[in-house]
Amino acid sequence: MEEVAKLIRDVPDFPKKGIVFKDITPLLGDGPAFARVIDAFAAKLEGKGVNKIVGIESRGFIFGAALALKLGIGFVPVRKPGKLPYQTVRESYALEYGTDAIEMHRDAVKPGEKVALVDDLLATGGTLAACAKLVRTVGGDPVISLLVVELSFLKGREKLKGHDLHALVTF
Ligand code: AMP
Repeated sequence: MEEVAKLIRDVPDFPKKGIVFKDITPLLGDGPAFARVIDAFAAKLEGKGVNKIVGIESRGFIFGAALALKLGIGFVPVRKPGKLPYQTVRESYALEYGTDAIEMHRDAVKPGEKVALVDDLLATGGTLAACAKLVRTVGGDPVISLLVVELSFLKGREKLKGHDLHALVTF
């Protein structure tokens, strides 16, 4: 994953001063590297019996949809409030830079379904923890979480005790 790590660009002071934004667009722009990420995610799901991929807005859609397509299973978008048209469930959470909430369609995950959560990056862990709660709220089972990047100094893992969490690159 060293080549993947090299394709993640640091953008200082984005979206606000003091934040070093990890820009994954150079990685997306490199076909073989992008494929390597999706293959690595698929390998983590082998034998897990996952029924759905839940991707978190917005970069989680890119990796999550590619993974769902590779595995031939459904994709579920978790979005910022007000974007999803049908009945939703909602969770609020704290972000590295502010607070926010996420929503998922009530019927997107069926009771008993095993779900893999996918996002580009784990920072404080608030987003992923909220996403896992949404899945549980509708009766699903968030069995595994897949991230491209983990910012380990923000200790997001501590918020996700008991989660089967995998990050391909750790900074
Ligand atoms: P958190 O809830 O703190 O774990 O934040 C994770 C979410 O915020 C993910 O959807 C990331 O895409 C985004 N995010 C947080 N911090 C950064 C960062 N330093 N660089 C890029 N994305 C970030």
